[in-house]
Amino acid sequence: MTNPLSHITENARRLLEELPDGVTLVAAVKSRLPAEVEAAAMAGITHFGHNYVQEAQNMIQRLPVRGSWHMIGHLQRNKAGKAVELFDLIETLDSLRLAQALDRRAAMAGIIMPVLIEINSGQEPSKAGVMPGKAVALVEEIDHFTNLRVEGLMTMGPAYGNPEDARPYFRATREVFESLKDKKLVRGQMKQLSMGMSNSYRVAIEEGATIIRVGTRIFGPRPE
Ligand SMILES: *Cc1c(COP(=O)(O)O)cnc(C)c1O
Repeated sequence: MTNPLSHITENARRLLEELPDGVTLVAAVKSRLPAEVEAAAMAGITHFGHNYVQEAQNMIQRLPVRGSWHMIGHLQRNKAGKAVELFDLIETLDSLRLAQALDRRAAMAGIIMPVLIEINSGQEPSKAGVMPGKAVALVEEIDHFTNLRVEGLMTMGPAYGNPEDARPYFRATREVFESLKDKKLVRGQMKQLSMGMSNSYRVAIEEGATIIRVGTRIFGPRPE
């Protein structure tokens, strides 16, 4: 009998082999089964991203491997405490109020929480993230919080269609990233640029991504 998860192992291996040095593959695991995520881990994936705090906790408890966990979904302030406990990096910080909640919870936990600022690179009011023109000011404010460390930026961009359509979104995010690198931050260290998904990760890498977040290209189409 063939292993029903062997396609995951193969996809993960192929992606890992393709990655240039300095680019981290985060497996986006929303709606996947623990056995599927375990298969990806067995193939060598060490970083995982989840969109939901409670589901992430269930998944982490069920997996026999530790790995590094990134919060990649919209985070509600009332889940800040749990998020600080569970995740190694929060990629979706996009407001001062959420920063305040995370800083307080990180202080209570006695840690410094690494965060990325989510950029609304398409400047669509209905989408998450801070507008590119407001990002520098937000980072400079968050930089004052003693229990947070801004390590870079994250953006979504279009998930479907021609991968080239995503390039302007990634480029706009990289421009904010470069201008932040020129600022003198107290705690922040601008080193991570999280952008690119199954459809667009190659374009994202060309535009300077250091983290790509890939779901369907590893696990197959998402169950509805
Ligand atoms: C689901 C998701 C991904 C991965 O998307 P795929 O198209 O399945 O690769 C990346 N980032 C975020 C924030 C996601 O929610």
